[in-house]
Amino acid sequence: MRVTIPAFWPAQLQKLGDTLKARQDTVRRMQWVMVVVYLSLLLIPVILPQVEHGRVLTSIGHFSEALFWGIWWPGVILSTMLMGQFWCGLFCPDGILNEFASNHGKGWKIPAWMRKPALPLAAFFLLTLYSHLIDAHRLAKGTLLVVGSMSLMALVTGLLYGRNKRIWCRYVCPASGLFSLLARCSALHFKVDRQAWDAATRPVPKPVDCPVLLDVRRLTSNEKCNMCGRCSGHRDAVKLSLRALGCELESLRVDEVRVWEALGIVFVLIGLTYGAMHWNGSIWNAQMQSAWTGWLGATPWAQAAAPWWVFGHIDSGAMSWQTGLATLAAILLAGILIGIALSALLLAAAWGHVKQACRLAYALIPLGGLGLFLGAQEHSMEILVREGWNVAGNLQWIRIVVLMVAVGWSLLIGWHFLARQSTPWLRQRLSFLLFSITTILMALAYQLAPNTLPY
Ligand code: SF4
Repeated sequence: MRVTIPAFWPAQLQKLGDTLKARQDTVRRMQWVMVVVYLSLLLIPVILPQVEHGRVLTSIGHFSEALFWGIWWPGVILSTMLMGQFWCGLFCPDGILNEFASNHGKGWKIPAWMRKPALPLAAFFLLTLYSHLIDAHRLAKGTLLVVGSMSLMALVTGLLYGRNKRIWCRYVCPASGLFSLLARCSALHFKVDRQAWDAATRPVPKPVDCPVLLDVRRLTSNEKCNMCGRCSGHRDAVKLSLRALGCELESLRVDEVRVWEALGIVFVLIGLTYGAMHWNGSIWNAQMQSAWTGWLGATPWAQAAAPWWVFGHIDSGAMSWQTGLATLAAILLAGILIGIALSALLLAAAWGHVKQACRLAYALIPLGGLGLFLGAQEHSMEILVREGWNVAGNLQWIRIVVLMVAVGWSLLIGWHFLARQSTPWLRQRLSFLLFSITTILMALAYQLAPNTLPY
């Protein structure tokens, strides 16, 4: 079933895209304002002495935490899933810093290692793991270390590589590893009409100055598009348009499927983020951690306190190596077990065909994305609870609603994908049944994750 799009939308959207292109000067000014706000929120809580546990309005540290992790992070996950990577193209401070530095930098050729397509997702894996180990989301200096170091790297990348481009955003940014997956669900995209492009009257306009080096003429995916609008209206062929949510994933061809990306979906987007964000209060996690702690306890060095930037924690001060390594092992083990279980179920649903199983993994992006959103919004709720808002009891209901949407969305993509296959009717139904079981089991894991909000 497809949602009918009201007729006025295409024209309004096209106008919006064209306005973005025409008002790049305003966009640029807005981005510099974002840089100033961002750097203030990042640096002031670390420079000024803070009350560690106070209300948001009495502490810039908590205000900054609320904006960064309570509003920005869940907001950007959801907006990317629904509207594409507008955050990256219009607001991201790292993007503008990278492009600015690239305008004044050395302009070196992009090295081959940087062009590895799996690099951003691998960086996202490491960054997620590290930020949860040091509890960067609750610690001002942890946020500065994790988020600030990304900005510094964006700046250095710009100073070294490319000319007037966003090499960091295209090839390295860890968040782009995640957003490249989520943006393929979105309802908005820059649509290119190839016939209109080729039939453009001469002389044709100058080539598009795409900041992330995309071949706009062949643009068919939201994967890397930063939605900056600079190509809107080019040759009367590029338009900001609406499409059905998830249709890009449904129509993914076998030759577009990447095995490493499918593994990234099950092991990182779903497995690792579940281990880092939802696994905390589980009894299995406690048992696993105590087993690891006991095993490591036999070694004397394990009792020593690790520096905060290795295993920091806002509540308990510096952790011992013993506790920190046990936390690391528990997160990784949860991620690996979930990844293996999902891979096995997807392989069964694809009748052992690896490429088809990988293709089905893409249909789990809405579930993984909304599962990540749930983890992020639970931190928002935690901030509200700390501020005295009695919202903790709503958590189960929020989970139910979000997970129902996530399951429905993933199943719809899986169904449309399987319906396009030329497999026998019964086999197709059985595949869908197994895919449904996979999706529902994972949704139950999110739903049944313990509520760790402070009451
Ligand atoms: S294709 Fe390039 S220029 Fe066009 S909106 Fe996407 S990032 Fe911007």
